[in-house]
Amino acid sequence: MEINLISDTVTKPSVAMLQKMFNAKVGDDVYKSDPTVNLFEETVADLFGMEAALFFPSGTMANQTALKLHTNPGEQVICDKYSHIYHYEGGGASFNSGISCNLLDGHRGLITADLVKQGINDPEFYHAPLTSLVSIENTTNKGGGACYEIKELQKIKQVCDEKNLKYHLDGARLWNAIVAKKQHPREFGKLFDTISVCFSKGLGAPVGSVLLGTKADMKRALRIRKIFGGNMRQSGYLAAAGLYALENNVTRLEEDHKKAIEIGDLLASFSWVESVEPVETNIVIFKLNPAIDEKSFLEKLKLKNIHISSMGQGKLRIVTHLDYKEVMHTYVKETLSKFHF
Ligand SMILES: *Cc1c(COP(=O)(O)O)cnc(C)c1O
Repeated sequence: MEINLISDTVTKPSVAMLQKMFNAKVGDDVYKSDPTVNLFEETVADLFGMEAALFFPSGTMANQTALKLHTNPGEQVICDKYSHIYHYEGGGASFNSGISCNLLDGHRGLITADLVKQGINDPEFYHAPLTSLVSIENTTNKGGGACYEIKELQKIKQVCDEKNLKYHLDGARLWNAIVAKKQHPREFGKLFDTISVCFSKGLGAPVGSVLLGTKADMKRALRIRKIFGGNMRQSGYLAAAGLYALENNVTRLEEDHKKAIEIGDLLASFSWVESVEPVETNIVIFKLNPAIDEKSFLEKLKLKNIHISSMGQGKLRIVTHLDYKEVMHTYVKETLSKFHF
C-alpha cells in the first residue's frame, strides 16, 4: 500500500469517472462543436452565476490568461508574497504579459483590503508601474490551505472599484474553501472579474481548469488560449470528468478536511514536532524540531510507504485527497504515533 500525500493532484480517475468519460459525446472544440465541453462550460458558469466560462488544460494557463486579459505590458499586479502566480507559474507573469508583481506581506497567503490599498501605485506618478490588477488565492497553496472570509473579499473588491483595478481569483482549491466555510460559488461569482477553478486537484479529474468571467472577456480569453497553445479538440472526454467531479466529488471534500485536521492534531501532540500551522482544509504544514534531520525523516516515512513533501525553510507538507482512504489514514496515524527520535 503506497500512500502518496505530496499533493491532491496525485488522484487517479475512478472507474465511474472513466465510464462517464468513455460515454461522452464529443466534437471538435476548436470549432466550438464539442457538446460536452459546451455543457461543462455552461454548467460551471451557471454554478458561479457568471456569464461565461472557458475550459483550459491547466490552472496555470487559466491564471496566465487572466493576467493577460487584465493588464498591459509594464503594468503591475498586486498579490500575496506566497502567490502561485508568482512562485509556481515559471515566471509566466513577466514572460507572457510583461508585468511585475507587487508582493504583499500577507498572513498565510491571505491579504487584506488595507494591504492592497498600501500596495497601489499612484497612477499620476508615472515613474512607477501602473497598478491594474489584484489577484488573490483561495484556498492558499503555499499558505497551507487557509481561506478567506467573504467580508474581506468584499472589502478588497471595494478598493478595486474605487481605484479602477481588475480583480482575479486563483481558485485552484476554491472548492475546498466553499465546503470548509459553507459558502456558495455565487458569492464569489458576484465579486470577481475572473475566477479560475481546478478539477484535477481535490475533485479528482485527470486534467482541466475553467476560467470564468464576462462574455466579452471570455471571447478575448479564447484568442489568448489559442496563442498560448491551449486549444484542444475532442476535449469533451476531459470535460466529462469535470462534470462527474462536480456531481460527485465536491461535498465529500469534507472527509479530506477531517482527515487533515486529525493529522494536524496528532502531529501537534508529538514532542518531535515543533509547530503545526492551523488546518482549515486539506493541507497540513508542520515543522520538525530543529534537532531532527528533515531528509532522514522523509526517508524514514518512505520506508513505511508514506510520501510527503518538503516546502523548504524547514516546512513539511501533507495533502489529503480522494484516493487517501480510511485504511490508509488509520495506518498513517499508527505509523506516526510509533515514531521516536
Ligand atoms: C495547482 C495550482 C494552480 C494551477 O496548477 P496547474 O498544475 O497548472 O493546474 C494554480 N493556483 C494554485 C493556488 C494552485 O495550487
